[in-house]
Amino acid sequence: MALSRADLARLLSLEDPEARAALHAAALAVKRRVTGPVVSLRGLVEIGNACAKDCYYCGLRRSNGAVRRYRIPEEDVVRMARWAFDRRFGSVVLQSGEIESDENAERIVRILRAIRAFGGEDFAVVLSLGEQREEVYRAWREAGAARYLLRIETSNPALYRTLHPADHSWERRRDCLRALRRLGYQVGSGVMVGLPGQTADDLAGDIGFFAEEDIDMIGMGPFLPHGQTPLGSVAVDRARQLRLGLDMVAATRLQLHDRNIAATTVLQVLAPDGREQALLAGANVMMPNVTDNVFRRDYRLYEDKPCLEDTSDRCLGCIERRVASIGERIAWGSPGTPPHYLRRTAGS
Ligand code: SAH
Ligand code: SF4
Repeated sequence: MALSRADLARLLSLEDPEARAALHAAALAVKRRVTGPVVSLRGLVEIGNACAKDCYYCGLRRSNGAVRRYRIPEEDVVRMARWAFDRRFGSVVLQSGEIESDENAERIVRILRAIRAFGGEDFAVVLSLGEQREEVYRAWREAGAARYLLRIETSNPALYRTLHPADHSWERRRDCLRALRRLGYQVGSGVMVGLPGQTADDLAGDIGFFAEEDIDMIGMGPFLPHGQTPLGSVAVDRARQLRLGLDMVAATRLQLHDRNIAATTVLQVLAPDGREQALLAGANVMMPNVTDNVFRRDYRLYEDKPCLEDTSDRCLGCIERRVASIGERIAWGSPGTPPHYLRRTAGS
């Protein structure tokens, strides 16, 4: 039975450690029933850090003059995707700042075709390249992209407006999600948790948004201030941010059984085992960074990004140990298609 918005807001305000542990255990039981004790991997390639947007929270915003901007050459992006494919990751994510230009759209088409040439249909390519025109999403879909991640950031348009300049539109972002769905993508969205001014009711509303917009994949992470941004001096209680991030994963799994939910990297900043805690609260996807290490330090959405010195090989060994430590296993070679997407498209 679906929980009401008020029920969800109550679950997201629990203080008592035993009550929170019960919430996580219930969510874990749902996950294990739906997907088994299995974690899907996506390799994350941070293909460039130039961005035309100016989100008040993000280190890559265009007004941050302290960032050295980079764009990884096409052949190197393809090589990193190939690395993930050869190690039997079922999926790769290409992420960058938001650039809306024909030149960039064509570059992505070429990269997608090159990846499809070795990956075929079963290696799921996921894009996370921000808001684009529907024609651009269509061209990328036709060139081989199967999935798209575009976080709504918050389902509350009024709160969204406090986090972005006036020319950034919540409605356009929602309409992009709808266009992606029409085009047959597996659609991912998500929010930041613990934003200044955000209430438990807003978070409950976020879970309602995922349900209403029929989102297949959900990525949520605590907000962490970045010093070179307008929200850089916001004081956050890091223990609370971690608690809220984990409770949001659990409440989302309890309400929406069959979605893919990521154990996001930002949780690892707040606790060394933050991602494992998220897996134990109902998450079923991890996105280890497979970007060449020379680029990693220039892609900082928030501060204290982990694993800056690590190579992709080392990250992989670390992930395997972490997953094994909680008694789960990695779904090697599987694209990890969200069960919700399979269900909503069955028979079509
Ligand atoms: N430019 C694309 C993809 C890269 S940003 C886009 O915006 O969709 C990916 C995500 O990083 C954003 O959606 C946002 O939720 C998250 N992010 C940015 N700054 C952050 C911060 N300071 N703390 C936590 N998450 C942040
Ligand atoms: Fe650009 Fe995405 Fe950061 Fe906004 S969140 S400034 S769109 S990289």
